[in-house]
Amino acid sequence: MNTLFLYNTLSRSKEEFKPIKPGEVGLYTCGPTVYNYAHIGNLRTYIFEDILRRVLVYNGYRVKHVMNITDVGHLTGDRDMGEDKMEKGAQREGKTAWDIAEYYTRAFRQDIAHLNIIEPDIWVKATDTIDEQIALVKTLEEKGYTYQTGDGIYFDTSKFKNYTKLSHQNLEALQEGARVEKNPEKRNATDFALWKFSPPDTKRQMEWDSPWGVGFPGWHLECSAMSMKFLNDQLDIHCGGTDHIDVHHTNEIAQSEAATGKAFFNFWMHGAFLIISGGKKMAKSEENFLTLENALLKQGFSPLAYRFAAFLTHYRKPMEFSDEGIEAARNGLLHLQNQVRQIATAAVDESDVTANTEFKNKFLQAVNDDLNMPRAMAVVQEMLKSTIADSEKYATVLDYDRVLGLNLDQLDKAQPLPQEVQELLEARKKAREAKDFATSDRLRDEIEALGYMVQDAKEGMKVIKK
Ligand SMILES: [Zn+2]
Repeated sequence: MNTLFLYNTLSRSKEEFKPIKPGEVGLYTCGPTVYNYAHIGNLRTYIFEDILRRVLVYNGYRVKHVMNITDVGHLTGDRDMGEDKMEKGAQREGKTAWDIAEYYTRAFRQDIAHLNIIEPDIWVKATDTIDEQIALVKTLEEKGYTYQTGDGIYFDTSKFKNYTKLSHQNLEALQEGARVEKNPEKRNATDFALWKFSPPDTKRQMEWDSPWGVGFPGWHLECSAMSMKFLNDQLDIHCGGTDHIDVHHTNEIAQSEAATGKAFFNFWMHGAFLIISGGKKMAKSEENFLTLENALLKQGFSPLAYRFAAFLTHYRKPMEFSDEGIEAARNGLLHLQNQVRQIATAAVDESDVTANTEFKNKFLQAVNDDLNMPRAMAVVQEMLKSTIADSEKYATVLDYDRVLGLNLDQLDKAQPLPQEVQELLEARKKAREAKDFATSDRLRDEIEALGYMVQDAKEGMKVIKK
């Protein structure tokens, strides 16, 4: 088997991937906070995680993939201050927090379906694991890691050695930075809430009884409780965006390892930001964010053009989003689809042909080098332009599509040509037989104006939709 190398944020290096149990991988990816639509920056991270999952399967692993749905307790500031995003969303739209969660969960699932992202094996809502989250806080309390303030139960980060092992930050600088959001009752600026009390003067829509009083869990708690519940002893890979490194994932590791005394996930992988042309980082808290709907669908772009665009920048590098960029990606995808349509016709009668070994290995080497999709896409073109038989090309590109997920097996091979195009084509055939090349050229232009490309091949004319 070809060796798979993945960049591990813990060691800041590419490491050979080996799962805890042979042949099986436990994968946990932090899911959406369902108080609004996902923006295309978030969606880039889910595309990266989908590629990871597909590459693991391509390498022969069985993958168990868990994703959470944050439907409670994620405050507008990462460090436990600010408003609850769900309750804020409910207020904004005049709905209940539960309705908001359901509505945006559905929207999220629709987005990832559009992008051909494979759904996780297990979806878990934070509100469905409140008992497990309370149990985790109890364990931490028994082990002496917690303390109570006026507004909740906090984790004492000074009691956990190696708090910065994921972020590699200087702890003193971190304490200083975390002080921006002041909470005078916290012992250390990096301490975080495990359980927040409902404010005494307001009735929250989402709140639960606990040994410490009515309230709701801190945001970081759900991912620890869920991954331990559903992946148990298969804590192989945990993913998210790079914005999760310093606080969310750092706190997940601290509370989990403090509770169990064992390592919490061997591999931590993070997708880089999306930059909107002009250099601005996209964030949901800024109100002008781009969604799949307004940035692509409404502009007439296929969501798969965005998926294709994401392949052209390595997942650890910031990706720039612009109208020109998405248009170029759309053209790149159309070109690839046309290339595949052409070889598909040749492959119809030769369905027993398998992928070309040399090109399959080249592709595998690219994706196994920390998911190097730009290199993998170059291999796709190299293969399609090579001299191997069309039927072999077709089998190979469909094999690649297990990773690419561009539905290349579903291209309409025998799309009937419109009547008008067919008539022009017949006329052009006659003109060519009569060696009337001026008419033939004029007819070709007319066909092209209708959105079709004509190619004169040895076996006759080929017509491809542009
Ligand atoms: Zn998480």
